[in-house]
Amino acid sequence: AVRTTGLVRSFGGRDVLRGLDLTLARGEFTVLLGRSGSGKSTLLRAVARLDHGVAGSGGLAVPDRVSLSFQDSRLLPWLRILDNVVLGIRGPGARERGATALAEVGLAGRERSWPHELSGGEQQRAALARALVRDPELLLADEPFGALDALTRIKMHGLLRELYERHRPAVLLVTHDVDEAVELADRVLVLEDGRIAVDLAVRLPVRRSRRDPRFQEYRDTL
Ligand code: ATP
Ligand code: MG
Repeated sequence: AVRTTGLVRSFGGRDVLRGLDLTLARGEFTVLLGRSGSGKSTLLRAVARLDHGVAGSGGLAVPDRVSLSFQDSRLLPWLRILDNVVLGIRGPGARERGATALAEVGLAGRERSWPHELSGGEQQRAALARALVRDPELLLADEPFGALDALTRIKMHGLLRELYERHRPAVLLVTHDVDEAVELADRVLVLEDGRIAVDLAVRLPVRRSRRDPRFQEYRDTL
C-alpha cells in the first residue's frame, strides 16, 4: 500500500529523514517506535502528503484513500459529532455510513453531541470513526492514545484491532509505549538516525509475551 525509497526530509539544512526505505502492505498492522525527535511525525506527514514546503527528496508511492489521526482527536468544536465524522465526504449515504461508523465504535446515539460533551476516550473513538468511514487503504495514527488513561487505552487497543481485522487497511501507528506496540502490531519498526533501524515481525505468541528479549533491548532506550 505504501512504498518510500530514499526518503529525505530536512529542516533548516538538518536532515531528519536520511534516505528512509519503507514498504507497507495492505492488511498489515505496523507500529513505529523511536525516540522523541527521531522523525516519526515527520515521516507520517510525508506519507500523508501534509508536508508542503518541507525540503526533501526521495520516492513516495501512497494510495489515494489515506486517513490520519492524531494524539488529540482534532474534532472541530463547532461541528456536531456526526458532522465531524462525515466532514468532506460527498455523495448519497454519507450520513448513514457515518452513523454506522459511530455505532461500530460504540457511540450510537451520540451523533448530535458536541465534541466537548464527549470524554477524551469517546472523542478518540469518534476520531477513529471519522478515519474509518473513509474506508482508508492506509490508516496513519500519530500517538492516538497518548492522552488516555491506561484502562481506556486497553479498551481502545481492543477496538482498534477489531476494526482493523474488519476493514484490513495498512496501518502505521506511532507510539512511545513498547507494550502498546507489542500488543497491537504485526510488525514493529524503530526509527533511528533518519532510517528504519529495526524491523521485526511480531507473531501472536510473541505479542502475548511482553518479556520477549528482543523488546527488552529497546524498552530501556525508548
Ligand atoms: P515526538 O516523539 O516527540 O513526537 P517525533 O519523532 O515525532 O518526536 P518529529 O516531530 O518528526 O519527531 O521531529 C523530528 C525533528 O524535526 C525534530 O528535531 C524537530 O524539531 C524537527 N522538526 C519537525 N518539524 C519541524 C518544523 N516544522 N520546523 C523545524 N523543525 C522541525
Ligand atoms: Mg511526533
